[in-house]
Amino acid sequence: MRGNPFFGPDLDPTSSMEGLATRQTPWTDAEPKKDKFVVEADLLIPGKGDPIEHGSIVVEGNKILQVGESISIAKDYSHLPKYHVKTLMPGMWDCHVHFLGAQRVAWDSLLEAQQKQALTGARCAPDLLRLLDAGFTSVREMAGYGIQLDQAIEEGSLVGPKIYSSNAIISPTGGHADLHPLPKPWYDDLCRQNGPFQTADGVPECLKVVRMQLRAGAKVIKICGSGGVGSELDNPVDQQFSSEEMTAMVDEAARAQRIIGAHCHGKAGIMAALHAGVKTIEHGSYLDDEAADLMIQKGAILVTTRLIVENGLQSKDFFSPKGYAKLSVVAKHQWNAMQTAIRKGVTCAIGTDSTGTLPPSNPLSKLVRQGLNAKELVYHVKAGMTPLQAIEAATANGPLTLGPQGPKAGQLREGYDADFIGVDANPLEDIGVLVGPGHVSHVWRQGKCYKSPGRGVSFI
Ligand SMILES: [Zn+2]
Repeated sequence: MRGNPFFGPDLDPTSSMEGLATRQTPWTDAEPKKDKFVVEADLLIPGKGDPIEHGSIVVEGNKILQVGESISIAKDYSHLPKYHVKTLMPGMWDCHVHFLGAQRVAWDSLLEAQQKQALTGARCAPDLLRLLDAGFTSVREMAGYGIQLDQAIEEGSLVGPKIYSSNAIISPTGGHADLHPLPKPWYDDLCRQNGPFQTADGVPECLKVVRMQLRAGAKVIKICGSGGVGSELDNPVDQQFSSEEMTAMVDEAARAQRIIGAHCHGKAGIMAALHAGVKTIEHGSYLDDEAADLMIQKGAILVTTRLIVENGLQSKDFFSPKGYAKLSVVAKHQWNAMQTAIRKGVTCAIGTDSTGTLPPSNPLSKLVRQGLNAKELVYHVKAGMTPLQAIEAATANGPLTLGPQGPKAGQLREGYDADFIGVDANPLEDIGVLVGPGHVSHVWRQGKCYKSPGRGVSFI
């Protein structure tokens, strides 16, 4: 079975651990052999453009070589191994997640996560599997430990989606990511280690902190354009970084070919961020017609993150009365904002703000966990998208949220990354079939099959 693209060269289910030790590829100048195979589908959804009935793709190594009607592909590639799925579509992208290893809904759990990074990594590992199992082949992490986790995935130590991380979220002092309930020296200690949280005040500090994210390997820069919901002392309606600070950070990021994604609820922050050149608006809760028009004019992308809001609304006991009231108000505005954005034709990408899986003993664990991320597509359809548009937001639009760092991925298209999934139902008839791993029959990432019927995603 070795080299069979169905299992991938390193995922042969007949192999043993002893086998793994002896299967080191010797160093050689020769081009590595590129596996070539065909996947044919009853329905092929390319990510962007019209679906093809009875469509196929040809894969060579980690790239898609050809896409078209099965009848034409079968003629030229009849000699290749062939796999059949009901629906074939690009692997999905969640463009707003966090890998923080939190096992409790408490601020000090973030300190523990920073101080015990091996433990944090171990806690994140099952979440990476859950994402891949649910058909998410790429994620954009907007603060967390994703850079280290991605390194482990690239090395083959872990199995999971490709992670494009911002490393930190950058906040002004007293702002959304300043973790208000923590004593200042504890928070400063987090910042000193260039972990997931940073504060900066004034243009020179803002430049320095953006450069620190570049040093850490960030592929996108995340800043606070407005106050937050979960943060204790600030107001989501208020703008946070000044226009001058935001412009300086956008310019600094652009010099390194990075774009900025801004956490923005209130309209003032959304407008200031867009005028400063911010390319993705995260949450966008108070977006109205005028803000939607400016987003279209600026070519910006909205990442709404409705899932975390809906989960929050169903978890009243975990909020203070004041916190829940704050969430309820923002939730109402955000639902209107989503509908406005969709009606106006703002480019949207799917993001959930999923943070991690809680232990089964926590009553929230069934609700809040990685792997249910495609619920976000369901909310987008409820808010006015067609299922095909929601799939485009979850696939082709994903790489757009990384600007120049975006890979050629998210579409079944020649020359694009061989990241795609098989679904045993038709998501154009019921978008809900994409939620959870149940209907995701196959997952390929970089041309390697990680899941097929009877064989789930696993580490080895
Ligand atoms: Zn977030």
